[in-house]
Amino acid sequence: MPELPEVETTARSLRPVLVGRRVTAVDGVDWPRMLPNTTEADLQASLVGEHVISVGRRGKYLLVEFDGETWAAFHRKMSGNLLLERATLPRERHTHLVLTLDDGNELRFVDARKFGRVYLFRSNVELNDFLSERLGPDSLNELDPAILASKLRGRKGRIKSLLLDQAFLAGVGNLYADEALWQARVHPLRTADSLTKAEVHRLAEAIKLVLVLGIERRGTSFSTYRDSDGTPGDNQDHLNVYGREGQPCARCGSTIRRIQLGQRSSHFCPRCQRAPKSPLPVGEVARQRG
Ligand SMILES: [Zn+2]
Repeated sequence: MPELPEVETTARSLRPVLVGRRVTAVDGVDWPRMLPNTTEADLQASLVGEHVISVGRRGKYLLVEFDGETWAAFHRKMSGNLLLERATLPRERHTHLVLTLDDGNELRFVDARKFGRVYLFRSNVELNDFLSERLGPDSLNELDPAILASKLRGRKGRIKSLLLDQAFLAGVGNLYADEALWQARVHPLRTADSLTKAEVHRLAEAIKLVLVLGIERRGTSFSTYRDSDGTPGDNQDHLNVYGREGQPCARCGSTIRRIQLGQRSSHFCPRCQRAPKSPLPVGEVARQRG
């Protein structure tokens, strides 16, 4: 699933080729449910003739701004890809939306699993209202140890689940959460309020580090993620825990383990990331020992 580094990589590669281009046509919608707040006709009326002003990202949303404060927001969910291809090339299967540009290229939204979504906004206020309802601070641009500490204060949930909650912190998904927790030596099942100040500091730094490295490596590609020119990233060759169950920890040599937390797998080193203490109250533990 594309997370922040994959979306950022796509935004960076699209920016120089999209900004300044004019949309000449919108078509290809074969799955109306991918447009929760708009329609193909609406997109045609709003975008055809308009220029691309900027290409950005917030959390896992890729944002394309057009003339007159009009925005398209793309969320790729499980398997969506945004490809920039020559209009003369045949469209591949599972292409669900195409923006034709005045330079002979097409921006194509391709998604085999159809969970991806495209939104249209007609003002900066509308866009910001939508995003601020759904997203906490951006984990690349807005996170630091003080912000993470204040977000965690009073929270009792498990740290891994909180990291996956986009309204808590935007951009991190399962893979980068596991990598950041390993980097910070924090067990995924720890509760938020059990983290020491030093651990919170390490975790904020670790989140930033794994995201920055992921972007430098142009994202992680297991099966479906591709950059806008169709090339996969290579971060998958540098992972420390995700998908490495049964292999040795790069730091201590212990065997990486995988546990199920909710619907998702968590990967961790049982030695570097100490399991939370017994959930029993202190008195209970003492009695058992005694
Ligand atoms: Zn280890």
